[in-house]
Amino acid sequence: MRTTSPSTVLVTGAAGYIGATLVRRLLADGARVIALDNLERGHAEQLPRDVPLIVGDVRDPDSVRQALGMFDRTPDACIHLAGLIQVGESTLFPQLYHDVNVVGTQVLADLCLEAGVAAFVMASSAAVLRPLQGVGDRLDEDAPVGPESPYGSSKLAGEHTLRAAAQLGRMSTVALRLFNVAGAAYGLAERHDPETHLIPLALRAAAGELPPLHVFGDDFPTPDRTCLRDYVHVRDVVEAFTRAARLAVAQTASGSAEFQVFHVGTGHGTSVNEVIAACELVLGKPVPRVVHGRRPGDVAALVSDPSKLAQVLNIHPDRDLLRMVRDAAATLGLLDG
Ligand code: UDP
Repeated sequence: MRTTSPSTVLVTGAAGYIGATLVRRLLADGARVIALDNLERGHAEQLPRDVPLIVGDVRDPDSVRQALGMFDRTPDACIHLAGLIQVGESTLFPQLYHDVNVVGTQVLADLCLEAGVAAFVMASSAAVLRPLQGVGDRLDEDAPVGPESPYGSSKLAGEHTLRAAAQLGRMSTVALRLFNVAGAAYGLAERHDPETHLIPLALRAAAGELPPLHVFGDDFPTPDRTCLRDYVHVRDVVEAFTRAARLAVAQTASGSAEFQVFHVGTGHGTSVNEVIAACELVLGKPVPRVVHGRRPGDVAALVSDPSKLAQVLNIHPDRDLLRMVRDAAATLGLLDG
């Protein structure tokens, strides 16, 4: 199948960490990009000035229509990153997570279908999966789903929406189940407000910018008793979005619209303690920390089998943990020289 890059792309959640990085990647391909973001958690200054930004919510049909109407003709693809992403927060506010992640995806996908968008790619999550039984296991796309948190449930419901949308045969849809996205590219730092992700928290604790890191649990059934996750560089992640959109556009053009899922990770499990050690190595100073109780919703291990990512999208994430930590530290301004 001939796959060419989508030349016009609506990106939701474009002012977030992954979104702003993806926008740079799409621009490098020569795409015309329109950004849609409600700026509740994103930062407008992360976007290049010449990318039009519609400040609006994906649950609001008028905002979505306005963004779609910014193109001269219907865009080739919509890449949907807008959403709430914190497992712990979702256990406190499950209805909010349903509203933003499920209703938002439904409204957006319906309007994209109505407008004739050929490809719809959504950021899903490893949190839709039933956790691993053995710590050495890797989860492929056929692994059973079974979310443990409202966040995971909301992403799974979003996947169901995309499956149904593709069945109409007019729009190919893709769910990229992201594992733990880390690192930085294009000089864009990972900054969430509040920050909840392990690598920036550990780095900034070591630099004295934040209080000591809470290690969420040291009683998991893993080799060093801390959680295992599959950290993947944001550069590889945005490449996956770009190629998935390309594939979906080609599928729709050839009359074979379908729904596809890909696991986006490296296939390597890394423990919280190993991440801390990498941060200490890169900064040359200790990460102050205290062992805390488990965070609600956290599971012992989530590690991908990225074979399909390699075979179908030709993506082989090979930037290792030290590279991710180094890139994160550099963009946070924590490396000397
Ligand atoms: N984690 C931790 N302390 C923190 C934040 C995270 O121990 O302050 C652990 C968390 O329990 C998980 C891993 O780090 O095992 C990655 O968490 P993060 O929030 O970065 O991503 P998630 O896996 O929730 O998507």
